[in-house]
Amino acid sequence: MRDSVSLAARTITTGPQVIQRKLPYMISFQLPDQRATKMLSISPIPAFSDNYIWHLERDGAHWVVDPGDAKPVFEALGDKPLGGILITHHHLDHTGGIAKLRERYACPVYGPGTIDGVTNPLAAGESYEILGLPMRVMDVPGHTLDHLALVLEEGTDNGTPQLHLFCGDTLFAAGCGRLFEGTPAQMHNSLAKLSALPPETRVYCAHEYTLANLRFAETAEPGNAAVKSRIATSQALRADNRPTLPSTIGEELATNPFLRCHIPAVARRAANHGANGANGDSDEVEVFARLRRWKDEF
Ligand SMILES: [Zn+2]
Repeated sequence: MRDSVSLAARTITTGPQVIQRKLPYMISFQLPDQRATKMLSISPIPAFSDNYIWHLERDGAHWVVDPGDAKPVFEALGDKPLGGILITHHHLDHTGGIAKLRERYACPVYGPGTIDGVTNPLAAGESYEILGLPMRVMDVPGHTLDHLALVLEEGTDNGTPQLHLFCGDTLFAAGCGRLFEGTPAQMHNSLAKLSALPPETRVYCAHEYTLANLRFAETAEPGNAAVKSRIATSQALRADNRPTLPSTIGEELATNPFLRCHIPAVARRAANHGANGANGDSDEVEVFARLRRWKDEF
């Protein structure tokens, strides 16, 4: 059971990360010893109006996640070669750049096997080695039925691995993807799987939707102080044209209404806004379904 005390503690632990985010368009996680060449750096390449193509670099190798467009990837790489592509789901704003990137780099493409251009189909529940690091694959249907979440595991000196979650359009900062193909029960279950990852897990969503999502979060749970504080932090970052990502699972548990369907205040608000007009329904899937419908019209 998540209580307000533990949630407050989780919010405080995100403090140092806010400082890291102030580096413009570059978030680097460097180990403190001499293994600089093995450093994993993860940075967003902005695409279209609000997509992020995540650019991973380690030991001189470059990969991208969900390249909806090839052009910004070409510009970000310059004369450096692309080593591989990761894909979370079939939508064109995540896959549209695959053909042109493969034409130039002939690199492998890991993703759902049903997508054109995928050379290495990923299986949910399996682990793969990407950039010399283990990557776990989770199936997270809801936004689409083929949606996968990718969890890259980076070793650290303190023995606790740092996890990096690439969740496409399933989990957003303070929100979640629309249900284009799946059911509320599928999406709720997918979000439950992601929210069970360690709270320190860094969350790399595929869109900059944070401020709009937080406006809904504040309406859905007006008494949540962590939401108000996140609005202030995110507004400052966006005013400076900086990304609000990555987030962490801990931050999402504290502020994302779609991960808080078990909180009575959220369930009550969802019920009051429920399309069925029913009284407070404690079933979490029903609360989730109402929140998602409400957000669709928000
Ligand atoms: Zn999508």
